[in-house]
Amino acid sequence: MGSLKIENVKKSFGKVDVLKGIDLEVRDGEFVVFVGPSGCGKSTLLRIIAGLEDLTAGDVKIDGEKVDHVPPAKRGIAMVFQTYALYPHLSVRNNMGLGLKQAGTPAAEIEKRIAASSAMLSLEPYLERRPAELSGGQRQRVAIGRALVREPKLFLFDEPLSNLDAALRVNTRLEIAQLHRRLKATMIYVTHDQVEAMTLADKIVVLNGGRIEQVGGPMELYNSPANEFVAGFIGSPK
Ligand code: ADP
Ligand code: MG
Repeated sequence: MGSLKIENVKKSFGKVDVLKGIDLEVRDGEFVVFVGPSGCGKSTLLRIIAGLEDLTAGDVKIDGEKVDHVPPAKRGIAMVFQTYALYPHLSVRNNMGLGLKQAGTPAAEIEKRIAASSAMLSLEPYLERRPAELSGGQRQRVAIGRALVREPKLFLFDEPLSNLDAALRVNTRLEIAQLHRRLKATMIYVTHDQVEAMTLADKIVVLNGGRIEQVGGPMELYNSPANEFVAGFIGSPK
């Protein structure tokens, strides 16, 4: 299970209204991509879903339950950041296992999950290395592996490929698509990149200025953008 319901979510920082009433449903197993210009509130919305940020109004429900009092670690969510956010002093193995260790998972179970995840991401040769000894692409795979070992019902990706060069971006995108097919987990993915959105998404959410402009399948948005803004973003001539 990993369905999500966002009901009239608003967020202000001081006097600035960043999210102005977001309503969205994500079905279990769906791959949903958020697109929109810089500053439109994509990361804020992800952080609210993850519980890393309080909301000003509205509700977030995971599998039908309000999660406003559920701490991030208990939401069944794992987040992958653009900047990887790895611990530099820990090996790949310990970066991947730390969250589970803190949650009290038995050591044998942690090792089992690290073995499975590192195999899936071709990270076995690097388990004893530190992040500084890895390429950017390898670091991002470690960050994905760290999410994977937690066996979350919901994965959140915040522009995970932005710091990678073009060739690696394609590879990593294909790996994420493959993970989605294998795990059948719910994934929410923020990107600026139209190709990423069109190829990964079951459903694209176009955000602008703290509001949703349109929600729909890639071809639906491409063929029938609701307005000029969506047309501009998805790149269909109108
Ligand atoms: P996006 O990810 O779409 O680029 P963000 O969600 O990061 O946008 O930011 C949306 C807006 O909220 C921006 O104007 C940003 O400056 C503002 N913002 C984000 N986080 C904070 C914060 N902690 N304090 C004040 N303003 C913030
Ligand atoms: Mg952002």
